[in-house]
Parts: sequence; structure tokens; C-alpha cells
Amino acid sequence: MNSSGDIVSFKYNKMKKSKTERKESVKHIVVDQIENKLNDSHTQKLTNSDAEQLTDQAIELLHQLIVTPSFSSEEDKTALLIENWFVEYDIPFERENNNIWAYNKYFDASKRTILLNSHHDTVKPNGNYTNDPFKAFVEDGKLYGLGSNDAGGCLVSLIATFTYFYNRKDLKYNFVIVASAEEESSGPLGLKSVLKYLKNVEFAIVGEPTLMQLAVAEKGLLVLDVSIKGTASHAAHPNDDNAIYNAVKVMQWFEAYEFEKESKTLGNVKMTVTQINAGNQHNVVPSHCDVVVDIRVNDAYRNEEVVEIVKKAMPDHVEVRPRSLHLGSSSIPMDHPIVKSGINLGRTTYGSPTLSDQSVLSCPSLKLGPGDSTRSHAANEFIYVEEIGEGIDLYIKILEGIV
Ligand SMILES: [Zn+2]
Repeated sequence: MNSSGDIVSFKYNKMKKSKTERKESVKHIVVDQIENKLNDSHTQKLTNSDAEQLTDQAIELLHQLIVTPSFSSEEDKTALLIENWFVEYDIPFERENNNIWAYNKYFDASKRTILLNSHHDTVKPNGNYTNDPFKAFVEDGKLYGLGSNDAGGCLVSLIATFTYFYNRKDLKYNFVIVASAEEESSGPLGLKSVLKYLKNVEFAIVGEPTLMQLAVAEKGLLVLDVSIKGTASHAAHPNDDNAIYNAVKVMQWFEAYEFEKESKTLGNVKMTVTQINAGNQHNVVPSHCDVVVDIRVNDAYRNEEVVEIVKKAMPDHVEVRPRSLHLGSSSIPMDHPIVKSGINLGRTTYGSPTLSDQSVLSCPSLKLGPGDSTRSHAANEFIYVEEIGEGIDLYIKILEGIV
């Protein structure tokens, strides 16, 4: 902290002003209960950013995020809660749509930047919920509520970690934190849409529940629409160009083909035919048969390469259309300093089969966060309150190892 009186009073005035502004902007939107809690808890602790205090504040923020619905592309109210955090800690931030980002105080353009990211949108609650998904309550050490585990716990832990490092002058890296939207829907206004504003990012930590183990690689997802052509005819007549029979051969290829390059952490590329559609009358041989192929791509291939390999293998009467190419695999080298730092702290490494916002990043990225991915999208979602404290503690220690 700076000890100059001028700066302190300047900061104090700025704080007062921004707090008033905040009140104006959120008054009608955020429920009174949240407003009161913010006034009670955050303001007293503005000057104290030690890890324990930050943990309490992070858990408080998580409560608020849970009780505030934030389905993908409807995250405006949780975005305000996150803005409030930065206002209360006097941290300048930027926002576009429902994405909010902030840099460390002593940002230095000559240094590389560590991106900390997690999302504040949630899926819709499934039909098996017996709790109110928007009620945040603690029972047996578990904090229940929609988005508690995916990815609220990770997000508040990363925000607390960022705040912990925010005022530090002696850092080797810059930090930027992005609380992003539209992760669950892979929507256009999520992390991908703000990457262009982020300066000099060297690598990223993406907060998703991994039990605080190091997910050093993540499979990408590629979906192909494959249309196999044939010759339409009356079923009573001879026809040696039946699209459905042609499709059988194509599907057998998808079943049998093995991609050459394996990945140590993610194994092979996995292709699965998951949908098939052809014909609408018993006596008509259809002109085409359409299949959908789900491909989980390892970090040895880019999605574009996989599409090329498939297209080359297909005969002329087969059309292959990728739905999108942007959900690529991701990884971080095992000898990357952040991975080494985690391993030194007793963390294990693994390859993750699930997809996260890592897929839109072109820099190396590590998936790491409190909570358990098997609780995500499940009924009566929860995170252990203790996991938040452990998460913040470990994030800080792993980062201390390199900054
Ligand atoms: Zn998630």
C-alpha cells in the first residue's frame, strides 16, 4: 500500500464517489438483501486484503451469485455483483456485454501477463432438483445452489486470488482476470469476444472444478455433419447405389479409423457416430443418408487437420461439413513453470475429457479449480465451503512459485 497522504485521500474520495455511483446503478436491479450484505461486509474490509479476509468475502460473493439467476447470456445481474467487488476494492475494471476484466495495479507493458479466467453463467437447473436451486445454504459443510460448483467456487476463488496480488509491486508477471459469460452455451459473447482486448497474455489458468488438481490438457470438440449420397429409386427396382448401404461403409470407417498421433495426456482422437437420419417411405430408396459424428480431438491435432483427414478418406459421394472449428483442444507443457509449481505443492496432473473456455484460447492454459466436475450440471449442486479456502490458498501458493 502507498503511504503518501495525498494518494490515500485521493483514493478515499474516488472510493466514495464510485460507491455512490454504484448505488445509483444497482439500486433497482439487485435485491435489497444483497445490497445490505454488501454494505455490511465489504466496506469495513476495504483496506485489508489478506487471504483469510478475502476468503470470507469470496464465500459471501458466492452466496450472492447463487441467489442471482445467471443463465447463459442472461448474466447482467451477476455481472453487477462482480463489478461491486472491484468497486469495493477500488480496482478499475472494464466490461463488455457481461464480461468483466481487470488488470493488476502496477501493470507493466514490458512484462508478460497471466490470464485468470472463470465464468459466471450457469446451465438451467435439471428436473431432479429437490432443493431450490437459487437458495444458497450451508449444510454439513456444503454450500448448495446452482452454479456453486460450476463455476462459482472457482470464479470467486480466482477473484480473491487476483485481489490478493493486485497491489503487489514486485511481480514478474502482470495479471488480468476475466469473469466471463456464455461459457456453458459456448456463445458468441463470452471469453472469446474479449480476448482481443487482453494485453500480452503468456498463459492462462481457467477456473473449473478439478479438485485443485492440474488438468494439463483438455480434449477439443468437433461435430461433423456427414451426408452420404446415393440414387433415389423405387424399392421394387434394382439399385446398387443405395445411400443407406453407402452410409454403412462410411460409418464402418468412422468406427475403425485410428488417428496416428497419440497424446500422452489425452490418448487418441475419439470419433463416434451419434445420429443417423434417412428415408421417409418404405418403398423409396432415399437420395441421401445423413449422419452426425462427435469427435473428441487430442492436443496432437488441430480441428482443421482432423476435418482434412476425414475429407480425404471419404469417397466423392460423401459431403463433410464441420459445424464449427473453434472448440480446439488445449494444453500446457509439463515443464511449464506453473505446472512445476503445482507439482511441487503435491498436485497431480491429468488430461480432461470435458470442455471449458480453454477451447477458445490460443495460449497455453491450465484448468485448475476447487470443487468436483462430477457435481457440475447435477441436481442439488454444491461445493464444500472448505474447498473455497483451500482453493484460494493453493492458487496463491502456486502463483507465488512463479511470480
Ligand atoms: Zn463450468
